[in-house]
Amino acid sequence: MTDIEKKLYSDDNIDVTTFKCPNCGGGSVFDAKTQKLKCLYCGSLFDIENKKEEIVVERNLNELISKGEVWKEAEVYQCQSCGAKEIIENQKVSHVCPFCGTKNVVKIEELPGLKPQGIVPFKLDKKMAGQCALKFVKRKLYAPRKFKKSAKPENIHGIYNPVFTFDCLTLSAYSGRLGKNYIVNHIVNGKMVTETRTKVFNISGSYDQFFDDFVVQASSKIPIEVVRTLEPFSTKQALSYKPEYLLGFGANTYDKQGDACWQESQNLMRLSIESSILKKYDYDVKYSLNVSTKFSNEQYKYVLVPIYVGHYKYKNKLYNFFVNGENGKVAGKTPVSAGKVCLTIFIVLLVLGLIVLLYYLA
Ligand SMILES: [Zn+2]
Ligand SMILES: [Zn+2]
Repeated sequence: MTDIEKKLYSDDNIDVTTFKCPNCGGGSVFDAKTQKLKCLYCGSLFDIENKKEEIVVERNLNELISKGEVWKEAEVYQCQSCGAKEIIENQKVSHVCPFCGTKNVVKIEELPGLKPQGIVPFKLDKKMAGQCALKFVKRKLYAPRKFKKSAKPENIHGIYNPVFTFDCLTLSAYSGRLGKNYIVNHIVNGKMVTETRTKVFNISGSYDQFFDDFVVQASSKIPIEVVRTLEPFSTKQALSYKPEYLLGFGANTYDKQGDACWQESQNLMRLSIESSILKKYDYDVKYSLNVSTKFSNEQYKYVLVPIYVGHYKYKNKLYNFFVNGENGKVAGKTPVSAGKVCLTIFIVLLVLGLIVLLYYLA
């Protein structure tokens, strides 16, 4: 184990008592680089037993509404400073809040909800996540130069974010009215006039589409725009859930229930179906479109996906950043330099002014 790794882990004050190293008796955490458990003291590596054929099986949707396996082994902690809730499994931790950086995190009496069926384990370690966050800052055009130079990714924590994925077959019947524009030239009072007219036509038909692993976020703790920027996560290759993957990491609690996620997923699928139907036609105006969709063979899985959360400090303010724990994509806000923004506006106005001037001269 390198010094950097030691420091990173010691920042968390992790005291993992459940998975003792057979060589030295020390606690271990999940190591993203090797995809194994790693002893925090002697660095020994241990396989996590998870056979290939254990790749998550989707479940029938009825099961989601009626019953689901409760996540018994895990406990919910809450940050007393910012209110963030986190699920931690089977470990004694003196924990730092990933969102605000304070140590004011306590266990609360709340159930963690459904036990996840699948997990997409972290592939990047904290160090790599920090490097991605640094590169992200360097690319920010409007960040102050001083910040770009001194930015330091701090308090990096791996957090699993809960998502529901849905599979289903859809069959839709539709009818509607569309219009296509065309141009007519005619002569009025000896002058040529160009007129745009619209040819209206009716459409109807049927359309079927299979949706595979349609992802809906179950937690709003990380803003949806952020998660959309970080996507995709390889939920199709999710492994079956094992508590070992959570050692050294936390998980966000979900605030949207499975049935609400299924509702949301249906609404999003309907939008996608509508746009796919319209794509079949050459039109300029949509007057009406009625689509009636039947959903069948619905299946779901509840999966945890890996996100690193950390922050930069600048002028006593914290700026959270988020890193996709699989592919290193970064999202988040950085400070903005007022000077750089003003300069851009000035240049844009100058160019616009020049164009107007040239137009009048010509
Ligand atoms: Zn050991
Ligand atoms: Zn907090």
